[in-house]
Amino acid sequence: MVGEGRFALVKTTLLDYPGKVAASIFLPGCHLRCPYCQNPDFADPGRINAELSFNEDMEGFHRFLNHRARILGGLAISGGEALLHPKLPELISLAEEYKLPVKLDTAGLLPEILKPYLDSNRLNYVAMDLKTLPERYSELGWKGSGTKSAEILLNKTIELLAESGIDYEIRTTVVPPLVDEKILKQLEPLTLSAPRWIWQAYHQGNTLNPEWSHIKAPDEDDLRNILEIFHPVAEVFVR
Ligand code: SF4
Repeated sequence: MVGEGRFALVKTTLLDYPGKVAASIFLPGCHLRCPYCQNPDFADPGRINAELSFNEDMEGFHRFLNHRARILGGLAISGGEALLHPKLPELISLAEEYKLPVKLDTAGLLPEILKPYLDSNRLNYVAMDLKTLPERYSELGWKGSGTKSAEILLNKTIELLAESGIDYEIRTTVVPPLVDEKILKQLEPLTLSAPRWIWQAYHQGNTLNPEWSHIKAPDEDDLRNILEIFHPVAEVFVR
């Protein structure tokens, strides 16, 4: 694989870990192919110039933590699908060594990989994407997992998170036709056990499927207007 062992590091961000000044790591490789994906080089690492996009390796990250961990409030780990990356356990161990809380982003289709991390209290926050109706995950390139449907896997992840005792959120990017007002309503029952359901506006840009790069989607104000007549516990995330 291009850039094997390398990943992207954002040294400081206020956006990726709720309430914390964090460093953010993006791990390449994903089992989905969301057409609107705005991390296309991370979903499909074969596309990129590794030197430009993957700016860090484990050794460099260790050095970075040595110098900067004391001013950080946490480490956010995203992807791609971070749970699929072989370096994830090592990265979490490093964060533990420097006493940094870890937030993990996941698409929610890998409950069996997530569970041991939750059971051993190695994660402090999880953000799980709920991308559209479970029966439409084939439109995101989901090819299935044995006999388990996307619905079973998403429900299992939601159940594990609810039982875990850690803080978490469910997150939905509102991008038609995968998610519109009607679909938000249909997704609502899946989110009721979560402390937070975050709606993200879709911003036009570089997308995995170029045909989606200029798709029209509700902006943050539109989402707030939908929210007013809709769901008392959802929140709109503002970039
Ligand atoms: S948006 Fe979809 S394809 Fe892109 S990294 Fe996330 S889960 Fe993978």
